[in-house]
Amino acid sequence: MIDINVSKEVLVVGSGSTGLAAAEKITALGYKVTTIEFMPGNNADSVNLERVLGTTGNFKADLVKKGERATQTFGAVVVAPEYTREALNTQYGLKLSDKVITQTKLEEILETKPGVKGLINGNGSAIAFVSGYGKESKPSNFKKMFEAAQKVQNLEKCKAYVFVNNAKVGAEGLEKLFTKGRHDGVLCFKPENMPEIKQTSNELTIRTFDPVIRKDMEFSPDYIVIEESLQPDEKTDALKSILRIDTDFEGFLQSNNVHRFPVMTNRLGVYVAHEETAAANIALKIKELLGDGVIQAAEDQGVVDSEKCVLCLTCYRCCPHGAISWDDEAAIISPVACQGCGICASECPMDAIQIKGFVDETLRGNVDQAADSGKPIVVFCCENSALQAYNAAKGVNKDLPENLKVVHIPCAGKVDVEFIWQSLVKGAAGVVVAACHEGNCKSEKGNTYAKWRFSDIAKRLEAMGISKEKVGFINIASNMADDFAKKINEFALKL
Ligand code: SF4
Ligand code: SF4
Repeated sequence: MIDINVSKEVLVVGSGSTGLAAAEKITALGYKVTTIEFMPGNNADSVNLERVLGTTGNFKADLVKKGERATQTFGAVVVAPEYTREALNTQYGLKLSDKVITQTKLEEILETKPGVKGLINGNGSAIAFVSGYGKESKPSNFKKMFEAAQKVQNLEKCKAYVFVNNAKVGAEGLEKLFTKGRHDGVLCFKPENMPEIKQTSNELTIRTFDPVIRKDMEFSPDYIVIEESLQPDEKTDALKSILRIDTDFEGFLQSNNVHRFPVMTNRLGVYVAHEETAAANIALKIKELLGDGVIQAAEDQGVVDSEKCVLCLTCYRCCPHGAISWDDEAAIISPVACQGCGICASECPMDAIQIKGFVDETLRGNVDQAADSGKPIVVFCCENSALQAYNAAKGVNKDLPENLKVVHIPCAGKVDVEFIWQSLVKGAAGVVVAACHEGNCKSEKGNTYAKWRFSDIAKRLEAMGISKEKVGFINIASNMADDFAKKINEFALKL
């Protein structure tokens, strides 16, 4: 392990309420914070972010004000993105009115006393929320809706009904909020299909099938609160490329990966604050990372042989964690940012990179050993998922092919094309690469790289007149012992 000095300054991009909440919490933990508003191409008084180089702990940010550029070093970066909102009433066949209102409108009403009075008629009000049918619900959207539903429920004489397609509780405190809301009396229905909603000048009717009581139900709320879809604002793409962080399939900062929620990104040291409640979590993560300005890390997590490196920068482009920079001689792997997945090592055309614990020479030896004994099935098992599933399957005596040989790898992204060929040449009857599911890969794209390589080999085998069924690719989670056994046995049957 070596000590690495890191900056104790933090850059917060976004000066809205979320950015300011994050800045406040981080400052309270003793870090110096610079907050900027990000406005690409704007030469006004604001400070803009043009470029960020460097890696975790020592990001070099080019900040520009009135044409003047200064490079400042930051240990971590927090982005508080902004969104635009769009009402999804037309998806429900509804017109906005004084009885069919948006989430934003309800929030405005709840903030004023006369507004709240107007919401409650003499006999009380039944207020229905609909979400997740116009568009796939996001945790942050669901949270806002559920907070409003709970406020409504706690108003005298009001009753909140929530119709939601897919209650996503994967945001901080959401599971608790959901439980408390239901405890307070918010009634939740989760029909699979969009409820049928009728709107006339004096009545609203919701009709749906309740899957819990297995009956059709119908009721007439006084108000319907329609979900809104959030859209990333126009600055998001620029931030994505400047910070080299992933977006999800809808273009929101932060990839759709369970290992990143709620505030992490694919780059250690870059965090996303989607809402104010994320501030405390981010501040603690920054404290955990930067500590007192010295980070301990394994020096040889990923090592580049400068004699072999030709500075093609393939590794820089494929590293999902933004852990690679370079100097005049060779690529440089940041011991702090590197997660040891091995994607870069498998992609490097010069074999110039070695990963701690999984150096090529050792892995070649392991492959030789596995493939050498009586036409085995060689399975490359990612240690984050498939290896655990295999161990569990073995532990409970699942039926597995007798000649199964497992090669332990740090991530499916470290399965070189060469290792698969080597297994086949040495006599393996078949080779399987077992990776995490999409959106569940700790290295973000290790499973994707592995699948590309597997497909490439399958095509080549076919072109050579050899059955492509000799190679297989499976997605497995660590708790899927049954599926591991099932999929491997299915593969074995095809050989
Ligand atoms: S991919 Fe290999 S050769 Fe290319 S820059 Fe990286 S270490 Fe050097
Ligand atoms: S091992 Fe993975 S995280 Fe480390 S530098 Fe290579 S690609 Fe990046």
